[in-house]
Amino acid sequence: MSPSPNDGRALQRLLDELGRLPGIGPKSAQRIAYYLLEADAEEARRLAQAILEVKQQVHFCPVCFSYATRETCDVCSDSSRDRASICVVSEPRDVQAIERTGSYHGLYHVLGGVISPMDKIGPEQLHVRELLQRLADGEVKEVILATNPDVEGETTATYLSRVIRPLGVRVTRLASGLPVGGDLEYADEVTLGRAIEARREV
Ligand SMILES: [Zn+2]
Repeated sequence: MSPSPNDGRALQRLLDELGRLPGIGPKSAQRIAYYLLEADAEEARRLAQAILEVKQQVHFCPVCFSYATRETCDVCSDSSRDRASICVVSEPRDVQAIERTGSYHGLYHVLGGVISPMDKIGPEQLHVRELLQRLADGEVKEVILATNPDVEGETTATYLSRVIRPLGVRVTRLASGLPVGGDLEYADEVTLGRAIEARREV
């Protein structure tokens, strides 16, 4: 990545880039940009470096499709995790949310989205085939469906339970109690922890 020529638009470029970030409106973009202008060069360099490093060093785990910095992710490479259960989530950030509860010690599988006919996303667009492959050797006894409690999350869970149950694997769904239509990642740790512990067979 080579620096752009000094065309007098450096500040505008920063404002444009910051404004593209989720949750950052024009006002916040300005506040961050002016903060960085006043910060010392070393602080700005650390931020830029952290952004570059995360893009260079973090990739998808080839087993569960969560984020990984080594060959496989921290969960997949941890021999103390319970390999008899797989918790299925839609996004890598859901793994972080469930890990924070401390209530789950098995493995994960990240689908990379949810089934959404409106957006033309079916099971083929998600990591469903890879999930079924992980169930093939019979080591996994339970699959916990932890997609969000909204319409698409429920559709995805229903589909998965239909294709997984015939394999003789126990299929469970997080207990209700999570805010309907809410995102897993915004549920507090206690509520989410309880939903995992009180999961029910589907
Ligand atoms: Zn993994």
